Amino acid sequence: MTSLLPALRGASGRTDSPEAVRFGEHVLTYAQLAEASDALATRIAGAGRVAVWATSTPETVVAVVAALRAGVPAVPLNPKTGERELAHIVADSAPSAVLAGAADVLPPALGGLDRLDVATAAPVRAAGAVLPPEPSGESPALVVYTSGTTGPPKGAVLPRRAIAASLDALEDAWSWTGEDVLVHALPLFHVHGLILGILGPLRRGGSVRHLGRFSVEGVARELLSGGTMLFGVPTMYHRLAGALTGADGPGNLAKALAGARLLVSGSAALPVHDHERIAAATGRTVVERYGMTETLMNTGVRADGEPRAGTVGPPLSGVELRLVEEDGTVLGDTASIGEIQVRGPNLFTGYLNRPDATAAAFTEDGFFRTGDMATLDPDGYVRIVGRKATDLIKSGGYKIGAGEIENALLEHPGVREAAVTGEPDADLGERIVAWVVPEDPASPPGEQELAAHVADLLAPHKRPRVVHHLDALPRNELGKIMKRSLGG
Ligand code: ATP
Ligand code: MG
Repeated sequence: MTSLLPALRGASGRTDSPEAVRFGEHVLTYAQLAEASDALATRIAGAGRVAVWATSTPETVVAVVAALRAGVPAVPLNPKTGERELAHIVADSAPSAVLAGAADVLPPALGGLDRLDVATAAPVRAAGAVLPPEPSGESPALVVYTSGTTGPPKGAVLPRRAIAASLDALEDAWSWTGEDVLVHALPLFHVHGLILGILGPLRRGGSVRHLGRFSVEGVARELLSGGTMLFGVPTMYHRLAGALTGADGPGNLAKALAGARLLVSGSAALPVHDHERIAAATGRTVVERYGMTETLMNTGVRADGEPRAGTVGPPLSGVELRLVEEDGTVLGDTASIGEIQVRGPNLFTGYLNRPDATAAAFTEDGFFRTGDMATLDPDGYVRIVGRKATDLIKSGGYKIGAGEIENALLEHPGVREAAVTGEPDADLGERIVAWVVPEDPASPPGEQELAAHVADLLAPHKRPRVVHHLDALPRNELGKIMKRSLGG
């Protein structure tokens, strides 16, 4: 197994070291990151597992890198998690200590754990520091909890091999190099923000500028001052699209986005409407990639590929992908909806303490059942229609994906945000329900109007039968719509 973070090897003590991460004024060079993480690694070496209080700070980067260098699996914790869920994660993952910034105030759920304060400045060589050799590829590097969109979060055990394989596949797809400067505004406790957004650049020897909090101005500023790539979630691109087309005009944002080498969206579907608005205002298209905590990255539009609104691109190198019908038949016909199943070196080894869930997630021939439903374009581009659990509506004998209807609703000028679900219906089996945040709450578009709009754009059987108006959709910190909290 080659090193997971080769750019950090030998960086200690170098005075000409390039910038690794920047959080506002706080910069760590590769040398500083190597020194601080080595010093911490010697303190945790031999531990069974450590938790990381994953604030958006350099301390989190040092803590995760230290755990990787010590060969100790790290469990990143979302600092905004409520007490009950945090207690569940701590009991489930049983870390021996929590790594946190000196100023962090930790909640009672972590009270039973030893606390180690992370310093970003460390002596060049911690006394007697001997780190173990790089562990094997199969050894667990991280336990990342799923977003909990469809049920309580599950701890996915990610071996070093999966992280390396997925990052290398993205390097191949995006011609990602150490010259790239990533503009980052995502939290550091999920795959997107931590593995792609931090370990990705560090693996290449590139650098990251983290905004702390997403802002349109911050993105424009960093892209105009050397940033080459932006990784974001659809809610961020929605705000960028709004700023580009809003009353104040695009200002320097259009120039900033047009000048970026790569704009990437993931974690949830990017509405076609936002994709198109950004393309029209900047001449640049946002590239989508599709992944999961359990599988890391599965598909992605290549940097030199053809971006296609509403698709997440073809499978990445090394990933086998197929669509499967409910009875297990592998679909030959690309136009039918099937469940995405994937196999490759990017897969996790299982859910922590959940042998039943792990066994249920894999087919006999080793494919992972993603629970996501899709069709394929004839050239292999994947079109996700939604999740099997919440987004596949069986109505009047049709299988209908919620995503397509959401995209259609978003094209209505009176609709700001939209989510579509199914609810039991005596006649149809299920009926389509739309949850809409109106552009103008004083005059929301009516049920008839939206039904006619969708029927015109798509087909009559895809029209919503019920429309609810909301002030906002329930979303988690990655902007994913929490459909299980949309009441029936
Ligand atoms: P849980 O598994 O706990 O219910 P979750 O599935 O949201 O939560 P994650 O592993 O963070 O947890 O998210 C993976 C899911 O996100 C995928 O299964 C898919 O449904 C969705 N997703 C990720 N990227 C995309 C994308 N580009 N387009 C559409 N959906 C996406
Ligand atoms: Mg999931």
